[in-house]
Amino acid sequence: MSLTPIAALGEFGLIHHLTRNIQPSNPNLAFGIGDDAAVIRMNNGKLQLVSTDLLLEGVHFDLTYTPLKHLGYKAVAVNVSDICAMNGQAQYITLSMGLSSKFTVEAVEELFSGVLAACKYYGVELVGGDTSSSLQGLILNVAVWGEVEENRVCYRHTAKNHDLLCVSGDLGAAYLGLNLLEREKRIFKENPDFKPDFEGRDYLLQRQLKPDARMDVVALLAEAGVVPTAMIDVSDGLASECLHLATRSGLGVRLYEEKLPISEQAWKQAGEFKLEPAICALNGGEDYELLFTINQKDYEAIAQIAEISVIGHMTDASEGYRLMTKGEQLIDLEAQGWQAFKAQS
Ligand code: ADP
Ligand code: MG
Repeated sequence: MSLTPIAALGEFGLIHHLTRNIQPSNPNLAFGIGDDAAVIRMNNGKLQLVSTDLLLEGVHFDLTYTPLKHLGYKAVAVNVSDICAMNGQAQYITLSMGLSSKFTVEAVEELFSGVLAACKYYGVELVGGDTSSSLQGLILNVAVWGEVEENRVCYRHTAKNHDLLCVSGDLGAAYLGLNLLEREKRIFKENPDFKPDFEGRDYLLQRQLKPDARMDVVALLAEAGVVPTAMIDVSDGLASECLHLATRSGLGVRLYEEKLPISEQAWKQAGEFKLEPAICALNGGEDYELLFTINQKDYEAIAQIAEISVIGHMTDASEGYRLMTKGEQLIDLEAQGWQAFKAQS
């Protein structure tokens, strides 16, 4: 029998492969695997949301430039973000840690202070977890519980043709922040006397090291009386999340490069790195913004909200998944679209 490397399936392929035959058996399960959080019906008529995320040293973070307090904050924020993506309110978290012998009590206290700061900020309670030794490095797992009214829950698979595609905040800065930190790390390794100069780039660093879940956007949508028709949070990059919304909804998607919200610092930094700002926005990831679709009737209500940009619309599946460039070329969106975009533009 020939064995299959995981890389042959990829992350999403592997999850699908492993879970494809799972049939929900509990009638209270409204939605299991496949969205930002699982959705469970409660006796009070509301829906409970459950999600979890794993952060591994060397894979998801590098402690040479990530302060432990920020890391603790981020571990909570990325989980709260998945509850926001369902249009819900986060309520409880558990925190599990694998700690190698290089960590002192003081270091773990520092990490924990970030976790508690995020709990306070998002109004969530730490209600448990697990602590273990680890052979190598730091392992963090947060699970989060939240809730949402039945008539406000937002899935990935419920966008409709002609819906407008919207995103909160701006995109690409977290990726540029990461590139900046990696560059300074390389220089520092060659020359330990080197003092990095991050002036004028604070926003990029903040977006990478201390991302925020857009709980405020969930509240703004509620105030505006808008329930998105579908929603997802931007963890892997705009292109990848657009593909999730479109394919899950059985639709195509059209994005417009000129509409992509990109901060001034991100523009400048992309220029310095000789990267296309739009590519950073499309494929960078870790922005933790909310990407959602709305019915066209809600356009006026959304246009009032400065934090939200309309960046495209849903189409028939036959029109594919495309970005209209500023030069009016249509290019295919790919989860790893960097190369494709470069070749065609
Ligand atoms: P997100 O980026 O929002 O955290 P993921 O892409 O990690 O979501 O996961 C996609 C879906 O697959 C989610 O519903 C998640 O709960 C599910 N999933 C991921 N890994 C596993 C696993 N090992 N077993 C069961 N479900 C999983
Ligand atoms: Mg998510």
